[in-house]
Amino acid sequence: MISTEEAFSILENLSYPERVVEVPLFNARNHVLAEAVFSSINMPPFRQATMDGFAIALHDELHYEIIGEVKAGDFFTEQLESGQAVKIFTGAAVPDSANAVIPVEKITVMDTILSVHERMKPEANIRQLGAQITKGAIALEKGTLLNPAAIGFLAGLGIPTVKVFKKPRIAFITTGNELVHHTEKLPEGKVYDSNTLMLTTALFDAGFDDVQLYQVEDDFDEVWKMLKSAIDNNDVIVTSGGISVGDYDFIGKALESLKVETLFYKVNQKPGKPLLAGKKDDKIIFALPGNPAATLTCFYVYVLPTLQKRSGMDYRYGSQLMKRLADDFIVDNVRSQFLKAFVSDDEVTVLSHQDSGMLNSFAIANALVYLPYGNYRLAKGDKVSVYSI
Ligand code: AMP
Ligand code: MG
Repeated sequence: MISTEEAFSILENLSYPERVVEVPLFNARNHVLAEAVFSSINMPPFRQATMDGFAIALHDELHYEIIGEVKAGDFFTEQLESGQAVKIFTGAAVPDSANAVIPVEKITVMDTILSVHERMKPEANIRQLGAQITKGAIALEKGTLLNPAAIGFLAGLGIPTVKVFKKPRIAFITTGNELVHHTEKLPEGKVYDSNTLMLTTALFDAGFDDVQLYQVEDDFDEVWKMLKSAIDNNDVIVTSGGISVGDYDFIGKALESLKVETLFYKVNQKPGKPLLAGKKDDKIIFALPGNPAATLTCFYVYVLPTLQKRSGMDYRYGSQLMKRLADDFIVDNVRSQFLKAFVSDDEVTVLSHQDSGMLNSFAIANALVYLPYGNYRLAKGDKVSVYSI
């Protein structure tokens, strides 16, 4: 049995081949740029009115002659003489010969005569050509996560496709004769399958969409076949259940027979002690214990950072921040614990119902508190390690 820190360090030291794909911007969300993106245009591509009002060719007087109108999307080709104005709308191209935009609130119009209430400075209310980015400049650096704003920015520059780090294709295999789909009637002795939908949801939430689902009975040959197929066709294989020491736990034996190298098996932690991580070529296999809270804890703590690392995203093994305990807490455990908890502001409350088979407290948790094994007392206000989830 190894410590959580040793397990993290083994995973941290794995390296993965960099795989790059070019994808349409439409499919690029939540991916990380594998190379910088350059802008092929100035943005804005013309001097742009930032207000509804009049574009004017400035002169010393307060009256202007209105000679036309420019709507958003129009391009006004006539020349304005000094003292002339065109009506203009937000987002429209300011004629080259105009040198200020005066907002509609600061003018009066009589027929074709515009009277301005105050003098405008040159280039007032005009967004300059290339003010956001100039043609040829770097729009986004390699390593940028494509969030909604980044996608919008690149779309606004007319970028059709981007090169991103390829995300792993993930197999999720649920084992257990006792499992029944949550839409079916529950026969005696059976339980509903929580893990398949839970893990799929967690994967989608984290931006991993390429997920293949498998379900298998507790039968060595079936488990072996399913695992072989999952390993052949996916980059990361996650299993739930069947990794303990029971007579019908076949995941470990099947992985061994499939020549999967064990990176570690059994971590000194609660929940999730029987966790196994293995490797075959560039593929990585996580065998998670089947108790739902253990499955999800191991997912957040071990699987998710690994998926993020493989995708070029920011990741971190080990806890991310420190928070103050809202209550006293006694630790008396030979295993390090990940406890369902709720963080508000700077305080963290450890929730009840920590049993690894129970999801009720997990459902309202927004964090896991990590407490190293031992026999010690923590007081309200003491700082503890926390994972946000
Ligand atoms: P195992 O790790 O296979 O020994 O399973 C441990 C416990 O988790 C047992 O009570 C199983 O019934 C339960 N379990 C395993 N897989 C699931 C699942 N997909 N959904 C809900 N409970 C599960
Ligand atoms: Mg089982």
